[in-house]
Amino acid sequence: MTEASDNSPAHFIRNRIRQELESGKHERVVTRFPPEPNGYLHLGHAKSIVLNFAMADEFGGETNLRFDDTNPIREEQRYVDAIREDVAWLGYAWAHECFASDYFPTLYAYALHLIDHGLAYVDSQDGDMIRAQRGTLTEPGQPSPFRDRSPAENRDLFERMRGGEFADGAHVLRARIDMAAPNINLRDPVLYRIRHQKHPRTGDEWCIYPSYDFAHGQSDAIEGITHSLCTLEFEDHRPLYDWLIEHLPVPSKPQQIEFARLNLDFTVLSKRRLMRLVDEGYVDGWDDPRMPTFAGIRRRGFTPRSIRSFCTEIGVTKSESIIPFGALERNLRDDLNERAPRRLAVLEPLKIVLTNFPEDETEWFEVANHPQKPEMGTRKVPMTREAFIERGDFMEEPPKKFFRLKPGGEVRLRNAFIIRCDEVVRNGAGEVTELRCSFDPESRSGQPGSERKVKGTVHWVSAEHAVAAEVRLYDRLFSIPHPAGDKARDFVEFLNPESLKVIGNARLEPGLENAEPGEHYQFERTGYFVADPDSTPDRPVLNRAVTLRDTWAKLEKQLRG
Ligand code: ATP
Ligand code: MG
Repeated sequence: MTEASDNSPAHFIRNRIRQELESGKHERVVTRFPPEPNGYLHLGHAKSIVLNFAMADEFGGETNLRFDDTNPIREEQRYVDAIREDVAWLGYAWAHECFASDYFPTLYAYALHLIDHGLAYVDSQDGDMIRAQRGTLTEPGQPSPFRDRSPAENRDLFERMRGGEFADGAHVLRARIDMAAPNINLRDPVLYRIRHQKHPRTGDEWCIYPSYDFAHGQSDAIEGITHSLCTLEFEDHRPLYDWLIEHLPVPSKPQQIEFARLNLDFTVLSKRRLMRLVDEGYVDGWDDPRMPTFAGIRRRGFTPRSIRSFCTEIGVTKSESIIPFGALERNLRDDLNERAPRRLAVLEPLKIVLTNFPEDETEWFEVANHPQKPEMGTRKVPMTREAFIERGDFMEEPPKKFFRLKPGGEVRLRNAFIIRCDEVVRNGAGEVTELRCSFDPESRSGQPGSERKVKGTVHWVSAEHAVAAEVRLYDRLFSIPHPAGDKARDFVEFLNPESLKVIGNARLEPGLENAEPGEHYQFERTGYFVADPDSTPDRPVLNRAVTLRDTWAKLEKQLRG
C-alpha cells in the first residue's frame, strides 16, 4: 500500500527474515505494533510502526495493531482512538485490531497450566519483600517461603485471587524458575497482580491483571506473530519470553528481536517527559507543533511520506545513536519540494509605491504553481501601484554582496518586472516606512526583450489584494542537542525560548485565505508552510513546517564540537 521503499538500507532484521523464509523456518511473516494506550504516539513509535509494517509488506505478510492494555490504571479510550488515527495517518492498514485484554481468559488458563505443572506459585509476601529477595547482579536471590506450596494450594489461592477474595497486594502469582539465575528476570518473575480496578474494556470482570512479561509473548503467540520486534530494553527479558513460550501450550512460537530505539536531538521522546511539557504548560497541548507527537508533527506540517522515508533511511541497528532533527526536516523538504504549490507571501512587509504604475489599475501576471511541474498549472497574480516587499530585502547601507534592493539600486520583483528604488520615505522616528520606486515596463517577465538581468530577485504582494495573516514560525523545542542527557539538570531548563515566533501581520497572495487546514505551500524564498486548524478565511493562520535550507546544520556542527 506504500510506495516501494527504494531507499531502504539492508539491516539485520530484514536479512534475518529473508534467510528464515528461504530456509523454510517460516512460511510467512506476521508482525504487530503493540502500543500501551497510556499516552499519545511520538516519533519514536513511528520508527517501530514503519519497521513492523515494512517487514510484513516486503515479505507478503501482515501486521496487527495490538493495544497492550494490561494495566488499567493509566489506560484510556482517548489514547486508543488517537493511536488508530495516527497509524492510519502514517499510511498503514493493519490486518487485525487486537487487545491484550481480549486474551485475559486464555492468559488465565495459561497461568493455571503453569500452576498445575509446578511452574508457578502464589507468593503471599508484599512487593517490598519480594524485591528485597531478588538479589543483585552479583548475588543470587533468596527463595520465598511460599515457593514450595503445592499445585493444589496454589490453584486454590489463585482462583480465590481471581474471585476477588483478597485485597490489592495480598498475593501475587510468580513463575517458578530459578532464584539464582544470572538474569534477574528469571528469578521467579511476577505474572499476576491483584488490582481492584475497573478496566476500560473488561470493566469489573477481572481484579487480577497479568504483568507485561506474561501478557506480551503469549499475545504474540495467540495472534501467530512470527517476529516480535521490540526495543533493546527488552533484550534481558527475552530468556523469560522464551521460557514462557516453551512451557505453555501456545498455538505458535514467536521470536523476539530487539533493535535500538530512535533518539532525536533537540527534543525528547518519552511519554513521561512529553506529558510534563503538556501538564506544566510549557507547550500548548499535545498537538503543539513543536511537540514530537504525531498530533504535533502533523500540525507542524510534516507529511506521512516524509516520516516514512525518514524512518526507512535511518535504518535499524542494535546500537544506540542520536539522529539529527535536521535529517527529519530534510525528508520533509524533499517531499514538499515535489508537491507543494509555490506562492508569494511577505512576512515582514515594507511598502513600495511604483510611481510610474497607473493608479487604480491591476496587472495580472500568469505564474506557474511549480517551476518544474507544468502539470501543477498556473494562477494569476495581481500587481498594483502599491505593493509589499520583505523588509529584509531592502538595506539603506548594504554590504558589498547585498544584491537585493538599495537606494538607487534595481531588483526584479519575481515573475513581474524590474524596479528601481528612487526615494526612501521615513517617519518622524527616522524609520523607513515606504520606498518610492519606478518599474521598467520593458522588463516584464516572460516578454520578448525582458532578458535584461539584475542580480537580485525578491518576492512581493499587491497591497490592494494582499491577505493579512498570522504566521507562526517554529523552531527547535530545546536549545541544546541532548536536553535529557544531563542527569543533574531538569530537561525543561533547556527549552528554547525562541521556539515560537508569531508574526501577526504577514501579507499573503490572494487565494491563500481559503487554504484548508493541512494544505501545504512553499512561500517563495521563505519556507514551507501549512495552514493551521486555527485558520479561517477572515484570519488565515499558517505554520512554518520547515525552512528552505538547513539553518541549523552549521550551528549543530559548532555545538557538537
Ligand atoms: P515511552 O518510552 O515513550 O514511554 P513506550 O515504549 O513505553 O514509550 P509503548 O506504547 O509501550 O511505549 O510502545 C509501543 C512500541 O513502540 C513498543 O514496541 C516500543 O518498543 C516502541 N517504541 C517506543 N519508543 C520507541 C522509540 N523511541 N524508538 C523505537 N521504538 C519505540
Ligand atoms: Mg512501554
